Amino acid sequence: MPDKPQCAKCPRMLCYPNIAVDEKPSFEEAPRFCPSKLKQDIIEKSVREYDREEIREFARLASVQEFECYERTPDGFRTKIPRIEETVQFAQKNAFKRLGLAFCVGVAGEARTITAILEAKGFEVVSVCCKAGAIPKERIGIKPEEKIPGPERYESMCSPITQAEILNSEEVDFVILMGLCVGHDTLFIRYCKAPMTVLAVKDRVTGHNPLAAVYLASSYYVRLLLPAAE
Ligand code: SF4
Repeated sequence: MPDKPQCAKCPRMLCYPNIAVDEKPSFEEAPRFCPSKLKQDIIEKSVREYDREEIREFARLASVQEFECYERTPDGFRTKIPRIEETVQFAQKNAFKRLGLAFCVGVAGEARTITAILEAKGFEVVSVCCKAGAIPKERIGIKPEEKIPGPERYESMCSPITQAEILNSEEVDFVILMGLCVGHDTLFIRYCKAPMTVLAVKDRVTGHNPLAAVYLASSYYVRLLLPAAE
């Protein structure tokens, strides 16, 4: 088997070197699994995509936005703004006017606040809840005993495809995804035609901060590192 890229196991991070602007990164001491060495053809081909003017400009603005999220102080770099402001600023840079907000019913209150924030900044907001259409879960083969409120209750399915298609029909400039479940977000991303960003992902246990459990993987969530049961 050829080596597969495994950046997550890299001890060196030579692709992010601390060198002067006129020096060249070197991958001589990179690990065998380094994609900077293994995948040069794909790197060259993919980077050519930035020659397309609209892609290059989008990428440029994203990197300018990234830069503006920090400030240099005598003590070093400091972070400056939360992601919601980063999102607003990036949308402003791109002159987006009409934003789509696809959200989970579980964060409906947050969606209301986010809409107020975006409208205060001058955007038009089109928002669609995951339950739009109120299609029963039975439509996709969910059994009565697999319904969250219980077999005797009606439960609307989450329909990320509906969310995506409604936002596609509204011709929004940019979509903000908020709080969708794992898998539902996968479908939304697959069907959404507008450029899209994720403001938050769902984590029912950690206040929508999945990395909280990762940070605790050597202590309270050590079960995450145990082998999966057969
Ligand atoms: S690209 Fe190479 S140097 Fe960079 S993190 Fe991956 S393995 Fe390490």
